[in-house]
Amino acid sequence: MKNRLSLLFTLGMGLILAYAASGCTIVQSFMPTETPTITPTQPPTNTPQPSPTITPTLTEVPYYIDATVMALDQQVPILIYHRFIPDRVGPTTSMKMQLSEFKNELELFYEHGFSLVSLYDWIHGTSYVPPGRRPLILTIDDVWYGDTLFINEDGSLSDLSALGILYDFYQEHPDFGYHAAVFAIYGDKHYAVKQVGDMFIGPDNSTWTTPAWRIKLGSTIAWAVEHGIEVYNHTFLHLSMTDLSNTDIQDQLFKNDLVLRDLLSEAGREDLIPQLKNIIALPEGKWPSSQSGKNVVLNYEDPEGKPVLAVMEAYNLDAAQFTPSYFSDEFNPFAIARITASPYFVQYIIQNIDDLPPARVCTLGPIKQEQENDVVVLQEQILKALNSGTCSEGVYHVNGLIFIARDGSVDPHTPPEIPTN
Ligand SMILES: [Zn+2]
Repeated sequence: MKNRLSLLFTLGMGLILAYAASGCTIVQSFMPTETPTITPTQPPTNTPQPSPTITPTLTEVPYYIDATVMALDQQVPILIYHRFIPDRVGPTTSMKMQLSEFKNELELFYEHGFSLVSLYDWIHGTSYVPPGRRPLILTIDDVWYGDTLFINEDGSLSDLSALGILYDFYQEHPDFGYHAAVFAIYGDKHYAVKQVGDMFIGPDNSTWTTPAWRIKLGSTIAWAVEHGIEVYNHTFLHLSMTDLSNTDIQDQLFKNDLVLRDLLSEAGREDLIPQLKNIIALPEGKWPSSQSGKNVVLNYEDPEGKPVLAVMEAYNLDAAQFTPSYFSDEFNPFAIARITASPYFVQYIIQNIDDLPPARVCTLGPIKQEQENDVVVLQEQILKALNSGTCSEGVYHVNGLIFIARDGSVDPHTPPEIPTN
């Protein structure tokens, strides 16, 4: 204490000298009664003040953290698209959508609060959207065509391709997200090699499966995989499985998967192969008629030995339905419902928007900042919020952690492990 007082005095005296040196009136500076600011006991406010009240201990500021809460019975519309066409080519049908119609749909979905989520995340209970927004999943079947995704020579994305249009839309509306699941058939089509005017031109028969063509397709797929597009299996030749032999069902699935891996490898992107996941869309939405044939689909393992995670089912042209949450008793990953993207079904979704509630916010706290990743602390905070009635049941997403708040208890959600071998 004595040292501090003497330091204070020294500082006070230093100030006097500073005043003198800075050109103040010296006479006044040396008159303590008229200039109280320079007395040792009452230093000016800008004087460093090493008094015991200033210590490194800062007052704790209450810390709060927002959880994003999805409803336990949240549903999602899963839309199926096929081809995309310039408007001049013809009207929108169940298999071909005018590009202007596709853009209109994206605008409409965005305005009604929808944001895209990943199919893979949905089937693992890990997907969520920003507060106030509602989940939506886009899928495209029968790919790859130039109108699915085409990368120009300068590296830009063609605005005649759906995933290119979607990417532009996402750049302008980042909270819409960039996700789509595409189901590919590699055995029955020629991917485009160039765009001329508003047309994509495929290779002629002499160039079919040339290295250049395969690298073009492989590098396009690689771009998609790296940007959040999920690439899945729609069989090699799109044959209806109803009456295929079990061997043929297995071959159609496996051969298609091998081509995908070959294309990525030939484009120098075999590093992406470990990211591939095993999800199947049944051609025409039809299961094999025999149980043993169904079992071939359900027990199918991809070339890396990964099991099938989900099967995309019927097209539901006659009965629109939404897909239930992972946390719902209705959830069945091996019978995922989808609805055809058409102006009629888009209107159906908008009319039934009350069945698709937006994500909510629940503010948790106060906690200490260093507890923001502490599972037990967050669990207690969610329970407190439930008991006080400030927040309600649901799936809580906070700092990358997921909790299920249901029937008065709160438990961490651990998505099922995907075996890899
Ligand atoms: Zn198809």
